[in-house]
Amino acid sequence: MRHLLALIFTLMAVVNLTAKDFTVVIDAGHGGKDPGAISANKKIYEKNVTLAVALMVGKSIEENHPEVKVLYTRKTDKFVGLNDRARMANKANADLFISIHTNAAKNRSARGAETYTLGIEEERTERNLEIAKRENGVILLEENHEKQYANFNPDSPESYIIFEFIQSEYVKESIHIAQYVQENLAADANRHDRGVRQAGFLVLNATSMPSILVELGYISNAEEAKYLASSSGQKKMSQCISRAFDKYYADLLKQSAEASAANSSISRENKVKNEPEETHRQTATSEDAPVFKIQFLSSSKKLGKGDSAFKGLSPVEHYYDKGLYKYTYGASTNYNEILRTKRKVNEKFKDAFIVAFIKGERVDTQQAIALFKKNHP
Ligand SMILES: [Zn+2]
Repeated sequence: MRHLLALIFTLMAVVNLTAKDFTVVIDAGHGGKDPGAISANKKIYEKNVTLAVALMVGKSIEENHPEVKVLYTRKTDKFVGLNDRARMANKANADLFISIHTNAAKNRSARGAETYTLGIEEERTERNLEIAKRENGVILLEENHEKQYANFNPDSPESYIIFEFIQSEYVKESIHIAQYVQENLAADANRHDRGVRQAGFLVLNATSMPSILVELGYISNAEEAKYLASSSGQKKMSQCISRAFDKYYADLLKQSAEASAANSSISRENKVKNEPEETHRQTATSEDAPVFKIQFLSSSKKLGKGDSAFKGLSPVEHYYDKGLYKYTYGASTNYNEILRTKRKVNEKFKDAFIVAFIKGERVDTQQAIALFKKNHP
């Protein structure tokens, strides 16, 4: 019986999460006037490799998961700015962002695949910074980049300091899928495994969801360039990414099922305990409901009330996590309402994002949203 109940809860959660319309954005790096990196013999362009692989990855996800919404930042050979790629994903409220690139180095023997997430400052090496600079350099091709990217200079290491912590909410999930991608590229596509790395990629920085950037291989290496340009190689590499997605998505469904099974048993207990009064029951339910807030600022120092760093937002709350004071604005058990608040906050803090709490404890935002949607069909 217990197993049957568990199974029913699992099925309920699966149905619920699939109804949630998981959205993945597939981002083919470069395009149009921006060729990306070019092979030594000048015949193979990064933009063509990334587009071919991106289209195959998307197609395979569409086929394997009809309930998943697949969006592409480009489906043709056209130029798309980095901010616009991220904006597209944010606007769609996407759950995952996969950016596809090929690497290049002066050293022609450099080879191998690596997958990046935005990361923690101390884990960024000089070399990773070089790669981030190269990929970010594309903004200089964008017509109004001075305005679009404010004071960001892709060549200045100082510019990367602004990336600190912005994506930290999603680092765990991002690394989770990045590891699957790397495992598959090494095992199935026989790529030299350069590992999961972290660096300040502009396109990942601007997205507010788990995000990875895959460098499939070195286009500057003659042997790898041939593989990158071959249709068999492209097919293999795309399978590595789409199978990584399969595993990641399956893990999410499982987590969500476990979370809602746990939640169901909590609310059943509460109902039993609070049997006598209707009001109690309502209180019990609302205490279990996730409270959504907008996190807009992190600081290693505690800031005073009305600090100018809050840019006039008031009242603000904070919680302490991993050595940082994290400042939030707004609070609602209604996810739709907090989405509206977020839009307002984003006018002042463009990278502000939604966080969730249950009984004052910080919980996984994606799971909290799933829970909210389950209780508000
Ligand atoms: Zn690139």
